[in-house]
Amino acid sequence: MFSNPYPNGGQSSCGGAVEYAQVRMQPELFNEPQCWGALLNGGLMCSPGFAPGKLHFKNKYCDNCRNCIMVPVTHIRALTKEQQEEATNRRSEGFWNQAPAAMGAGLYRIINNTATCSGPWLALFREPPPAILWPDLPDDWVCDGHVRLCVAKGTLVPAKTLRCARRCKRPCSSRPCQLSATSASLSCRTT
Ligand SMILES: [Zn+2]
Repeated sequence: MFSNPYPNGGQSSCGGAVEYAQVRMQPELFNEPQCWGALLNGGLMCSPGFAPGKLHFKNKYCDNCRNCIMVPVTHIRALTKEQQEEATNRRSEGFWNQAPAAMGAGLYRIINNTATCSGPWLALFREPPPAILWPDLPDDWVCDGHVRLCVAKGTLVPAKTLRCARRCKRPCSSRPCQLSATSASLSCRTT
């Protein structure tokens, strides 16, 4: 769905030799049980054979996506307090929700919005959002034009707001979203 963030053969200055899919939104795709991360990254990074569970938000994501979903900043906006008041996710099944008219009435999901999250609520849009005045995203949440999201706190949060990421002292460019050779899992790198 999103454009390929790494046109140079999957290499990025974030250091991850990770290929991201350029996926067209295919209606039939959404009738199949799948990791919700695949809605954002095309599913190339998903754990093989994953089937989404019920009840908890985290059960919708495979192990890999729980630790790392790279989303272009062009699809993420911080919300003002006023916008937060009219922004909701439905409680029914499904990732995408209808945005209010003031935010373009497209499909979106509100994230980073549970009680223990840090920073502003975020709206994650399926299509680029309308060009209205949005608050700035915190600079350090953005790496190479993308925000790395993790599943935590019952929602998606910027990896930079998690303790494991905060411990990282290295610059963004050397802290990849890296595929471990041994476990094939993505993890916060702290060394
Ligand atoms: Zn996945």
